[in-house]
Amino acid sequence: MDYRTLGRTGIRVSEVGMGCEGFEGKDYPECERLLDCAMAAGINFWDLYTSNPQVRKNMGRALKKYPRDQYVLQAHLCSAWRDGQYFRTRKPDEVKRAFEELMEYMQPGYLDIGMIHYVDDKNDYEAVMNGTVIHYAEELKAQGLIRHLGLSTHNPDVAFLAVESGLIDVFFFKQKTAYEMLPANEDVNALFEKDAFDRIYEGIDPKRDRLYRACQNAGVAITVMKPFAGGLLLDGKQTPFGRAMTPVQCISYCLDRPAVASVLGGMATAEEIEAAARYCGASGDERDYSEILANAPKSSFSGHCMYCGHCAPCAVKIDIAAVNKYLDLAVAQGFVPETVQNHYELLEHHAEECIACGACMRNCPFGTDVIRKMKQAAEVFGR
Ligand code: SF4
Ligand code: SF4
Repeated sequence: MDYRTLGRTGIRVSEVGMGCEGFEGKDYPECERLLDCAMAAGINFWDLYTSNPQVRKNMGRALKKYPRDQYVLQAHLCSAWRDGQYFRTRKPDEVKRAFEELMEYMQPGYLDIGMIHYVDDKNDYEAVMNGTVIHYAEELKAQGLIRHLGLSTHNPDVAFLAVESGLIDVFFFKQKTAYEMLPANEDVNALFEKDAFDRIYEGIDPKRDRLYRACQNAGVAITVMKPFAGGLLLDGKQTPFGRAMTPVQCISYCLDRPAVASVLGGMATAEEIEAAARYCGASGDERDYSEILANAPKSSFSGHCMYCGHCAPCAVKIDIAAVNKYLDLAVAQGFVPETVQNHYELLEHHAEECIACGACMRNCPFGTDVIRKMKQAAEVFGR
């Protein structure tokens, strides 16, 4: 397993993490086996959105045999339980009770990330960030019961506001190949409409694209939910791309986006954990999703660098994907942030070394004008 830094929190998390969906409906011994299997695969990052007391108790009990510093817990505030069902709440007493139950059932001592749950609507966002929820979250932070604040959302517009607030260090964000191409929408159900994919795609929605760059520049980490689109992208009959992707390809796509630290799947069996964890030892060919996206019947990524690295090798050993990523970050900001310049400086070879041989462009499945981008990068970064 490989690990990445969770943005400005500085916490190290496994590139492949796990949600809690796979623990639903299982008794304790089954939960323990599943959790042990994930830990043995090197997974150290857990998202717990559920308020189901049994799942919380089972996961908490199974985690107890591991030292607290060996796992990272991202658990949700405002996710509550009533009459045997989950519900989302912003009511102060219910938010407080749900948090207290979480701590009692799991006994983790503290949460690494206190994730404010499911904020998709801008009015809801304003209410959360100007009301009792954020005050309570800050209070928990001051008491050391949560270390950092996160926000889960499906809506890039809300995420932009949260980045600007400076209060949110981590997003839990739906960011998978298909949905990235849909425009920002407050209504998450629109993503599941039958004709949602029945249109001509024109690459990643520009707003989402800008959001990833804004996060990277601000040090806000993105953690990704539902990387397999509930299995849709793994099924050749259902996927909008005409061909099934593998779990490794789905994870690879998510991890190639700026600011993404970890991809958390809802694996429910040891086999599914193994299939996801295989990402870490996978070859470049196994990770490569470019051909599927480039040849997708309804999509067009033409000219847009996807940072897939398919253009390598470069005649002069420039890391083209990295140069393009830093260039796009700088262009999106309208200036060169110091951190981006520093990252660029650390590259072994720089864009000015490009000899315009064009070999990379023959390899690029997305028709990116690499020579032009190298010239632009040399100007922007000064070398
Ligand atoms: S230039 Fe093309 S092949 Fe290279 S990283 Fe970008 S999209 Fe991929
Ligand atoms: S055109 Fe630039 S990036 Fe492509 S092979 Fe030549 S030097 Fe490398």
